[in-house]
Amino acid sequence: MSAEAAVKYVTETPESEKERVAAWINTEEYKELNFKREALVIAPPHTCQPLGAELVAHAFEGSLPFVHGSQGCASYYRSTLNRHFREPAPAVSDSMTEDGAVFGGQNNLHEGLENAIAIYKPKMVSIFTSCMPEIIGDDLVAFLKNARNKGIIPEGMPVPFANTPSFNGSHIHGYDAMLLSILQTLTEGKKVEGRCTGKINLIPGFDANTGNFREYKRLFAEFGVPATILGDISDVFDVPCDGTYHTYPGGTKLDDAADSINGKATLSVGPYSATKTFAWLKDNYSGKHAAIPMPLGIAKTDEFIKKISELSGKPVPESIKNERGRAVDAMTDSHQYMHGKKFALYGDPDQLLGYVSFLLEMGAIPYHILCSKGSKKVEKEIQALLDSSMYGKGCKIYMGKDLWHMRSLIMTDPVDAMIGDTHGKFACRDAGIPLFRFGFPIFDRVNKHRYPIIGYQGVINMVTEICNKFIDIKDETCEDRFFEMMR
Ligand code: SF4
Repeated sequence: MSAEAAVKYVTETPESEKERVAAWINTEEYKELNFKREALVIAPPHTCQPLGAELVAHAFEGSLPFVHGSQGCASYYRSTLNRHFREPAPAVSDSMTEDGAVFGGQNNLHEGLENAIAIYKPKMVSIFTSCMPEIIGDDLVAFLKNARNKGIIPEGMPVPFANTPSFNGSHIHGYDAMLLSILQTLTEGKKVEGRCTGKINLIPGFDANTGNFREYKRLFAEFGVPATILGDISDVFDVPCDGTYHTYPGGTKLDDAADSINGKATLSVGPYSATKTFAWLKDNYSGKHAAIPMPLGIAKTDEFIKKISELSGKPVPESIKNERGRAVDAMTDSHQYMHGKKFALYGDPDQLLGYVSFLLEMGAIPYHILCSKGSKKVEKEIQALLDSSMYGKGCKIYMGKDLWHMRSLIMTDPVDAMIGDTHGKFACRDAGIPLFRFGFPIFDRVNKHRYPIIGYQGVINMVTEICNKFIDIKDETCEDRFFEMMR
């Protein structure tokens, strides 16, 4: 008897059964069962808190992200950032294992800090936690106080830290917690009555598009308004390839971040991913404060531009007015390719609000809108946008749902395209529709993070990508007699 014949499979699934199930998961009956699912999440379109914390921990000059917790978790955040940007994401971990879980992670933290400071010579160490120390209740305040008393942390070195338990919230909440701690640490004792830097502080919120950061800086420069981006990843994750490795290639200067407390004004464009930071800052920072939506689409970019003008007291420059005109022209030239097209979209609240606004402006229909970690407030805000346009009629919002729910939605109630991150490609393949990758992470396309989607330039980029794809599909699928030079 051959070895193969001796193997008795525990279960055998006939081809006919596989085909039956493959067809059944596309039905209305399956969708109803899928939406009754309570105990299991399948492919949630969010990542865990520490990943968001790591993104912003990279965004300051000489800052070394330090994971207090498991090495495996640290590898996950690093590899996700590394695959998205195709750049190194240098961070360290104190590699807690079984003994740390039993006796607490203080020894790991102290040894890790000693090694990391000696080897990587950071200007600041930004500490955040994985699940393990959060579950056992490690006391970071006490651990860091002991580290200072033992001389492990050099005199004057800022060491902000954030508790980022992953069983609660998502990457946007970790981002918020880490940014808050960094600003609290750097600005401590730096407020000077009567001093004004004359600068506007910008809080971009969780945003993994380096092109967006360059666009923010360009727009401020067009205005002639000095600005400090609080958490600037543009040079950190878009490093020139010059043959030299830089451990800390960019980020907001620590002195600028410290002096941001004396700014002329502070503007947040991440109302849902920097909520706590902005709430603290309103009570502690000088000048005016405003939180507005991310500038995606024409209306939200108008709001952003007007707000800079209002906060700085400077008129909107002609060059920006011309940019707006060009974006509107690009939309007008191409609206017929998007008009009436149905979209499924998912992502973080700040981005989702922008996508919905932009699609409605183009006469497209944001039909299935899904957010895995939204709230009633986000839902209400999206619904208000839908109610403001005839193209919002019949569109539905799904809060607290995942990408397996989304698959059921697009298989039973089809759309023309999806907007999201790389994880949506499986459902899109099954449904035979294109995926527009504007979210995070994007692992399977190159250079997407270098193309801004914010501002008027972002409008042109999004319109161009979406409409040209629809035109490509037409060219690839139309009958010969409709294959035209002009589209
Ligand atoms: S969810 Fe928890 S265990 Fe999983 S990678 Fe994130 S921090 Fe680690």
